Amino acid sequence: MSKIYALALHGGAGPKAGEDYQVVEEHLESLTTLGQEMLKNGTPSLDVVENMVAQLEASGLYVAGKGSAPNVAGQVELDASIMQGHTRQAGAVAALKDFISPISVAKAVLQKSPCVMLTADGADYFALEQGFEKVIDPKSYYVLPVGVSQQDIDQYDMSHGTVGAVALDIHGNLAAATSTGGVFGKPQGRVGDTPIIGIGTWADDEIAISCTGTGEFFIRAGGALTTANGYKLAGDTLDEALWRLLDDVKHLGGDGGLIAVDKKGQIAMAYNSDGMKRASVSYNTDIISTTFAPCR
Ligand code: ASP
Repeated sequence: MSKIYALALHGGAGPKAGEDYQVVEEHLESLTTLGQEMLKNGTPSLDVVENMVAQLEASGLYVAGKGSAPNVAGQVELDASIMQGHTRQAGAVAALKDFISPISVAKAVLQKSPCVMLTADGADYFALEQGFEKVIDPKSYYVLPVGVSQQDIDQYDMSHGTVGAVALDIHGNLAAATSTGGVFGKPQGRVGDTPIIGIGTWADDEIAISCTGTGEFFIRAGGALTTANGYKLAGDTLDEALWRLLDDVKHLGGDGGLIAVDKKGQIAMAYNSDGMKRASVSYNTDIISTTFAPCR
């Protein structure tokens, strides 16, 4: 067992300039402190990233879980994925309807199902069978997250938000988790990058990554695995590996951000959108929590 741990969280790469995100920054900071305690106490990274993302989902402050917006048919469809690095076990759900914690359902897919991804009715059936809590009254449960207006969710302009966490635990194991309500005004059945292992989420022995942004462009750019391979195979530094993906996303016309930790406990967070809600801590840093700041 070592003393080395690291944790990074994001609350999406869709914040708008001029909005007051103080409540979000405070929330991210308090969660990071809790996650730090969990990691120091030896909690496995898989459980830490699930816990962090479940709390981000439950807060209603981000476009995930309680803060998710309905699709054009008036239904909330939720996407989430989680991956454990050293075993490469992964679980994901796409177009899951009205469950309180999509990330916990994704973790159950990882632990209790032979599949990696379950979608739509099949995901709902699995979640019910596993005893996960359903949203009883969707109309009163879902709320508009900070910085999102009704006008935003009525139009399909690719405005978006997501939550994610990456962690290295003191046992040397990495994990990543990502959850989203998707993009606003999305058509029924639209699935972005978030639930796709290797695109929205990736973890292996060397690196753990969670992405946020316009999912279609992250898919077309090859997503998180492009970053992992840049870092592992092409000799990129952690930062260079993140920008390898972001530059391609931009080249294709999209924007967004991503967070990563490596097995040495290094953290990188980068975005090419107006901002990315984020926070991080590691065995050798203080908590950082910033909503806006130019990255490059
Ligand atoms: N990537 C998410 C999606 O396209 C949205 C986001 O990260 O903001 O569904």
